[in-house]
Amino acid sequence: MGVFKEEPRRLDGHQSRCPYCGLLQDRAVTLEHDWVLLEPDLAPLAHTVPAEHRWIELSDGRVTVYGVCPPDPYQRCRVEHRLACSAQPLPDLWPWLTMLRGENERRAERQAAPEPPQLPEQWPDAG
Ligand SMILES: [Zn+2]
Repeated sequence: MGVFKEEPRRLDGHQSRCPYCGLLQDRAVTLEHDWVLLEPDLAPLAHTVPAEHRWIELSDGRVTVYGVCPPDPYQRCRVEHRLACSAQPLPDLWPWLTMLRGENERRAERQAAPEPPQLPEQWPDAG
């Protein structure tokens, strides 16, 4: 009769709609009393998620980044909705790979550039 029952929540937080894609996301309180918006109904194994993006639920319902390294192979975690949102750019999940790609881009540019004149090969004098 016009009364909307809220869905049961697994976290102490609430659900809200993503302003970018309109899908529901779980609002969870972090240990720092901030909010984090988590992808609902998704709990991948922690080792499949980049380290800084593994959120685990604590017994009091708050969430925190899972800091165990290496992760327990059976530990499951939550991920932020923004990583799964089709309407937001994917953040830099693997910074070292991004650095490597940048380095390779520079290497590829150098390789494509005209070769500098080759100097005759010189060996250091043996002692
Ligand atoms: Zn979204």
